[in-house]
Amino acid sequence: MNLVRTRFAPSPTGAPHIGNIRTALFAWLFAKHHNGKFVLRIEDTDQARLKAGSVKAILESLLWLGITIDEGVMSAEGGETGRYGPYIQSQRLSLYQGHVMKLLETGAAYPCMCDNARLEQLKKTQVTQGLPSGYDGKCRTRSWSDEQKKDAIGSLPIRLAMPKEGTLTFEDMIRGNVSFDLSLQDDPIILKSDGFPTYHLASVIDDHAMLISHVIRGEEWISSTPKHISLYNAFSWEPPAFAHLPMILGAGKSKLSKRHGAQSVLDYQKLGYLPDALRNFLVLLGWNPGTNQEIFSSSELIELFSLERVQKSPAIFNMEKLNWLSHHYISTLSDTALLDSALPWLKKAGCPTDQYSQKQLLLITKIAQQRISFLSAIGEETAYLWDTQPIQDPLILIEKKSSIEHTVAILAGLIELFQNNDISENTPCEEITNIVEQWREQQGHARGEILWPLRVSVTRLKHSPGVYETIQIIGSKETIVRLNQARDLLSSQKQA
Ligand code: GLU
Repeated sequence: MNLVRTRFAPSPTGAPHIGNIRTALFAWLFAKHHNGKFVLRIEDTDQARLKAGSVKAILESLLWLGITIDEGVMSAEGGETGRYGPYIQSQRLSLYQGHVMKLLETGAAYPCMCDNARLEQLKKTQVTQGLPSGYDGKCRTRSWSDEQKKDAIGSLPIRLAMPKEGTLTFEDMIRGNVSFDLSLQDDPIILKSDGFPTYHLASVIDDHAMLISHVIRGEEWISSTPKHISLYNAFSWEPPAFAHLPMILGAGKSKLSKRHGAQSVLDYQKLGYLPDALRNFLVLLGWNPGTNQEIFSSSELIELFSLERVQKSPAIFNMEKLNWLSHHYISTLSDTALLDSALPWLKKAGCPTDQYSQKQLLLITKIAQQRISFLSAIGEETAYLWDTQPIQDPLILIEKKSSIEHTVAILAGLIELFQNNDISENTPCEEITNIVEQWREQQGHARGEILWPLRVSVTRLKHSPGVYETIQIIGSKETIVRLNQARDLLSSQKQA
């Protein structure tokens, strides 16, 4: 294969969502698998749809997922988020206009004088008469002098004169042969009257100029492909290979919506999903390795990825799968990586991190590690360790078979026990267990009688993670504070 060059060509109409970035990922993986190059091109020719901040969001999303751009223009757009700024179509207008002049000269394109009123009327007639929609070619046969053609650029819309006979067939790398009846194709506008190209023209000229070997894009663009191939033919250029990726649908095969997780990639970042997990999830939206493997590092993906293993049928967005994958990535983080990634989230949640030692912080994050799928959940999972809220309902301190009096007595005994034993984050959990167990046996108490009020006192929750892990983190001092608080609350219930 010649040098593989792929591109991601988003329109800057907002922060890129899952589907956009899945396209970027597949195009990037294909290029990397073949030791090729991956290019980013911003398709901003529809100026009415531009949204400020989109280019920054596109660059940030790619960078976060490790999708690297191999070349581009050195521009401020690249900023600190990428080495290269992307190619930007609105900065290349003269290139497109020059090429349109060539098409006008050969008669492959023509200026159109039909005004909106006529086009509206045409549309209405087509609807009422059940005719195929689209431009009827009225201006196609007008003759123009060279001078008039030149003047038309930037003042009249220019249309491509599509071939009208037979079928146009191209081989899609995912779908095989795809054919279009040319008699049903209308003549699309390729250059607007303001001199801006439309998507069809700009993307064909750029794909050619940027030596793109494989155009990998979403299925929604398949109907544009006959127009593109006709443009390649009109310029006498060799078209690239095409691969149209399957759509992504929501659960129940419905249209993917926000409810199904069709958020922007940066929303997932804000929730604390790990980029490795999201990338792993995205690649499985339409691709599979042909084995049972589900967890892939970036380099494994580069090695394994092929378009042959991309499916034609829609991929289903499954939020549970994303959470499962994300949980997997979080639960396999090394201690250092866990602490690095989790600390900002703990701070954000209000945890007084500077009051804890590194060891305590690690233990706190480890408690959450096995329970969460995204890092923003860490606050909620660990708040009982650092939140100062007292128990809301002291009666939850009483074990099923116990009473207020008995529980108060047990809490008093436990306070004494922790006053006599200095426990810190460096005390192994087994040692804490032994201390409590030995005391329990000496006192002749049943296990539940002790453990229930102890756990509820130190975690202040009816249901919570392990009591010994909690005591290890908060240490004897704070354990005593919480036991005292629990005892006082319960005693006041007795008096009431
Ligand atoms: N600008 C188009 C988009 O926003 C790109 C289509 C293509 O890749 O050709 O998706």
